[in-house]
Amino acid sequence: MKPYPKKTLGIYSLTCCEGCQFEILKDYDDFSQLLKYYDVRNFRLGQEENLPGPFDVSLVEGTPESKEEYTLLREIRKTSAIVIVIGSCAHLGGIQSERNSLPKKMTLAKDVVSIPEVINTDFIVPGCPISHKELFAFLMDIYWNKVPTLHDLAVCFECRQNENQCLLKEGKPCLGPITRGGCDSICVNGGEACYGCRGATDQADFAKMKEILKPIISDEDSTNMMTIYGDYECEWKRRTDEGK
Ligand code: SF4
Ligand code: SF4
Ligand code: SF4
Repeated sequence: MKPYPKKTLGIYSLTCCEGCQFEILKDYDDFSQLLKYYDVRNFRLGQEENLPGPFDVSLVEGTPESKEEYTLLREIRKTSAIVIVIGSCAHLGGIQSERNSLPKKMTLAKDVVSIPEVINTDFIVPGCPISHKELFAFLMDIYWNKVPTLHDLAVCFECRQNENQCLLKEGKPCLGPITRGGCDSICVNGGEACYGCRGATDQADFAKMKEILKPIISDEDSTNMMTIYGDYECEWKRRTDEGK
């Protein structure tokens, strides 16, 4: 059988822990399957020789911090037919965006911004870290010219399927009701709350979430919880301003 013509792929990292890139290499059998369809031309973590675009698809993790990273990001957009942001840093600002809540006199650094705030992007693969299986399924859809779609049911849906005891019912905080599932409620399965690393569902009811958390934790703690991976309060305001 003739091999399929390969699409070209660039995998880039801006400021972050690089955990999403490591996730790509987590299972070499899965990665080697992907290599049958994609020619990885740029992947600093995975190979010595890296070429500049143009590429059919580029993946970007992390947030732009330096002037060089902003330039690289704009260059990636210019030279890539499709740009996919991977992980909560790239998608929402991620853990480092906690810096935005510090009083300005405590930091000289500028606010952390997510990648969609800087360039137009085509798709998001969420999570901290991403799931390599979800990413590879996305890439295979793109390879076959199908539009990839994200799971849009809340984490609670998978949590109920996994028959976990609901933390909210036990008087403990959890952001499962407003957070996009697709992670198989992995944190709750392990006894931890959902802190929202996959971002909000399209139907997220932020006001209701605040109301549910009110008797459980203080307003300050609920705001802190809702800003760990990105700013749910900002997202709430943006959607309200847009009349959603
Ligand atoms: S999303 Fe999480 S795992 Fe991925 S790069 Fe950011 S901090 Fe690391
Ligand atoms: S524990 Fe969290 S994710 Fe699970 S059902 Fe309750 S609120 Fe939803
Ligand atoms: S349960 Fe919540 S915090 Fe944990 S992986 Fe899923 S979306 Fe992220």
